[in-house]
Amino acid sequence: MEVRLLEATEDPEQVICKGARNDYMSEFVGDQSFDEVMASIEGDSLEDKKETLIGHLLDHGHFGPFEHPQATFAIKGISRSCMAQITRHRHVSFDVQSMRYVSFDDVDPEDVREGELVVTPPSATDPDWVGRNQKTGSLGEEAAERREEVFNDAIENAVESYQELLDLGMPPEDARFVLPIGTEVNMVMSMNVRMLMHVADMRAAADAQWEIREMTETILDLAAEWCPITFEYYEEHMKNRKNRLAP
Ligand SMILES: Cc1cc2nc3c(=O)[nH]c(=O)nc-3n(C[C@H](O)[C@H](O)[C@H](O)COP(=O)(O)OP(=O)(O)OC[C@H]3O[C@@H](n4cnc5c(N)ncnc54)[C@H](O)[C@@H]3O)c2cc1C
Repeated sequence: MEVRLLEATEDPEQVICKGARNDYMSEFVGDQSFDEVMASIEGDSLEDKKETLIGHLLDHGHFGPFEHPQATFAIKGISRSCMAQITRHRHVSFDVQSMRYVSFDDVDPEDVREGELVVTPPSATDPDWVGRNQKTGSLGEEAAERREEVFNDAIENAVESYQELLDLGMPPEDARFVLPIGTEVNMVMSMNVRMLMHVADMRAAADAQWEIREMTETILDLAAEWCPITFEYYEEHMKNRKNRLAP
């Protein structure tokens, strides 16, 4: 999996502050410099003032201003299972690679064993891996070896069947029905800062599956570089909140 920040609002925290200050100023925010907009906020420097205001907004649940800045991420090589989970978030915009361009036509099914084109969950190979809904503990090395074998055989069979169906004249868009849910996909997705915090609440949490959690943690790292005051506050005071319906 690879996650990159493709595009993002320039100076997101200035936009957040201007949006929020608009609510409590008699002057028109469009006519004011940023220094003027922030004049009444506590702090020695503009950075301090941004910290004061953003901390205050997050602390008081005033989340509207965080809907103004937006970021676009490019995601490479997640499973279709992870894609199904993240695309449940209705305020995120997506572009999803068509399966027509994930070509299994001429790959050697044995190569797929090496992790090409299908995501291999760590539990397929790690003898000590215990899933969040798993009732048993580790079943030992032998079970883990067999697990890897069964997993790889299933993938290989699926790819072979797909290729045979194509040879038998089935259209690719129908033959792909036999491909595994672990088949890799690339995605571009955009969301605003408020939504990013909501996605992180749900998908960077301990009960989220390892893959979407890994993706969300990487997004959070990129967000922390892009929008540092907000995501430092999020990390320190808000992450792992429980029972939130929305941010
Ligand atoms: C650990 C985990 C397990 C899950 N298991 C399942 C499962 O087994 N089956 C399953 O179907 N889903 C499952 N989900 C998905 C989950 O139920 C949500 O559909 C998904 O996370 C989208 O989040 P959201 O509901 O907050 O909506 P989002 O689309 O992210 O919207 C953000 C917020 O906007 C508001 N909102 C958006 N649309 C509406 C609306 N129409 N009406 C009212 N308020 C709205 C809500 O406050 C919502 O929280 C799981 C999620 C997690 C994290």
